[in-house]
Amino acid sequence: MSTDAVSPASAPKDHSVEREVRAAIVSFARRRIDAKSFDREGRLPRELITELGELGLFGLTLPESFGGSGLMLREVAPIVAEMASVDRSVATTVGLHLGLGTRGLVLHGTPEQKERYLPRLARGDLIAAFSVTEPTAGSDLSAIRAEGTPRGSHLSVTGSKCFVTNARLAGLFTVLVKTRGLSEGQNGTSLVLLEKGDRGFSIDQEERKLGLRASSTASLSFDEVLLTADRILGPTGQAARVLDPILAVGRMLLAAGCVGTAHRALAETRAHVATRRQFGRTLSQLPVVRSTYGRLASRLEAMQALVDTAAAHEADLERFSLLSMAAKVFASETAFHICDTALQLHGGWGYMEDSGLPMLLRDVRVTRIFEGANEVLLQRLGAAAILKPAALSAPDSEGPLAERLSALLASIRTQGGVALMGQPEVLQRIGRLSVLALASGALTRRSSASTTTEASLMSRCFNQLAATEFDQVIQSEEDDAVAGAAGASLLEGARDS
Ligand SMILES: Cc1cc2nc3c(=O)[nH]c(=O)nc-3n(C[C@H](O)[C@H](O)[C@H](O)COP(=O)(O)OP(=O)(O)OC[C@H]3O[C@@H](n4cnc5c(N)ncnc54)[C@H](O)[C@@H]3O)c2cc1C
Repeated sequence: MSTDAVSPASAPKDHSVEREVRAAIVSFARRRIDAKSFDREGRLPRELITELGELGLFGLTLPESFGGSGLMLREVAPIVAEMASVDRSVATTVGLHLGLGTRGLVLHGTPEQKERYLPRLARGDLIAAFSVTEPTAGSDLSAIRAEGTPRGSHLSVTGSKCFVTNARLAGLFTVLVKTRGLSEGQNGTSLVLLEKGDRGFSIDQEERKLGLRASSTASLSFDEVLLTADRILGPTGQAARVLDPILAVGRMLLAAGCVGTAHRALAETRAHVATRRQFGRTLSQLPVVRSTYGRLASRLEAMQALVDTAAAHEADLERFSLLSMAAKVFASETAFHICDTALQLHGGWGYMEDSGLPMLLRDVRVTRIFEGANEVLLQRLGAAAILKPAALSAPDSEGPLAERLSALLASIRTQGGVALMGQPEVLQRIGRLSVLALASGALTRRSSASTTTEASLMSRCFNQLAATEFDQVIQSEEDDAVAGAAGASLLEGARDS
C-alpha cells in the first residue's frame, strides 16, 4: 500500500479529508504520473490504476457504508481539478468512474446490487463505465436502438454503443437500452448493468483520438446478452427520469476538471511571460500581455466560482441539474479559451509538444462535446430560464447581469415565452445569457467575501467582460437570422447535389 494512501473506510467526514487527499494526490502525481509518456503510449499503465485505487480515489463519492469516503461534490471537485492539472486522462478515468459510472448505482441500486458492486468499485478493483451514446444516437438519445427484450425471466440485450469512456478498463457498465414490453413504461428505456465477460458482450478496439489519448474510449456490442432481472438498475422503462441526476454529477466533475486544466495553462503562462524577453523586456512587462493575462485570470476565477456554486447545490436536484449544465458549458468554453490563449502567449514554443500546451489544448477540446454538446445544453438552459427561472438561479449569488436578464425574460414571457420553445436559436441565446449572468453572480459573491484588492479587480474585470459578451449575444439575433438563411441555402444545395 502506498504511503500516501488515505484509508477510505476510516476517513473522518470533514474538510481535512479533502485536504489530505489533495496533498496525497499532489505528492503521488509528482512521483508517478507522467502525462506526456501516457499520452504517447495511448493508455494508462495498469499499475497506476491499482495505485490510484490504493490512494482511495475510486471511492471518493461512494458511501462510507460500502467502503467509500462519502465525500460531497464540493469536496471532490477540487480533487478532480488537481488531477486534471496534472493529467486530464487520469482525471477523466477517475471522474467518469466517480460520476456517471457509479452514481446510478448509488442513487438507484437495490441493497443487493450495492452490496455486490460498490465495495469493489470503491477500492478500484472494479472500474465503472457509462454508456448511452450510439452511432446513430448522440445528442438525441430518444433515437437509441440497443434493446432489451424479455425472454422468459431474462432480458436479452442486443445492439451497440460507441465512445464509451473507460471501456477497456471497466468491469461494470451502466447501459441505456430500450425496453419495450416490460411491465411499466411500455415504450420506455431502462438502465441495465453489464459485466465484462457476459456472454455475447464484446468490447472493441481503442479509438484513436485528438486528445485524452491515455483515457480509454471504445465501442461495445451486445449480441443477445441474457441478463437476470437483478441487472436492471432503477425503475424499469423510466430511464429518462433518472438519467438527469446522474448526468448532472458527470457534468459537475467535468467542469471541475476544466478548472484544473485552465489553472495549469495559466500557471505555465505566468512562468513563461515572466522570463521570456522580447523588445528588451519580459513579455510580462508589455501592457497587452498584462491585460490579456488579467482577462484570463478573471475568467478562471469566474469558472472556479461557478463550479463551486453548482457543487454547493448538490442536494437540490433540479437546481443542481441546471447549475451543473451551466458550469459545464462555461467551464469547457473558458478552459479552451484559456488554453488556446496560453499557447498563443508562448508563441512558437507553445506550439511544440514539449511545452505541454498542445496536450492541454487537445485534451480540453472534447469537454465542449461530451456529456452533452454545449449547443444542446444551452438550449435546455434557455428553456429553463423561461419556464423555471427560480430553479436556474443561485440564491445569494446575484450579480450585475441578473437584473438585466430577469427584465429581458419578463418581457419575453409577456410576448408569449412558451412559443419560443420551438425556436432553438433563441433558446440558445437565452441559455448563453443565463450562463453569463450566473458566472458573474458567482464571482461577485466570491469576491465580496474577500478583502484582497486582487479579488475585487478580477471581479470588476470579469463583470466588464461578461457585460460586453451579454450585449454581443443580444445583438447577435440579426446576424443569426442572416447566417441561418445563408447556411440553409448552402446546406440544402449540398444535400441535393
Ligand atoms: C472522447 C469521448 C468520450 C465519450 N464518452 C462517452 C461515454 O463514456 N458514454 C457515452 O454514452 N457517451 C460518451 N461520449 C459521447 C458524447 O457524449 C457524444 O459525443 C455527445 O453527446 C454528442 O453526440 P454526437 O457525438 O453523436 O454528436 P451529434 O449529436 O451528432 O451532434 C454533433 C454536433 O451538432 C450540433 N448539434 C446537435 N444537436 C443539436 C441541436 N439540437 N441544436 C444545436 N446544435 C446541435 C452540436 O454542435 C454537436 O456537437 C464520448 C464522446 C467522446 C468524443
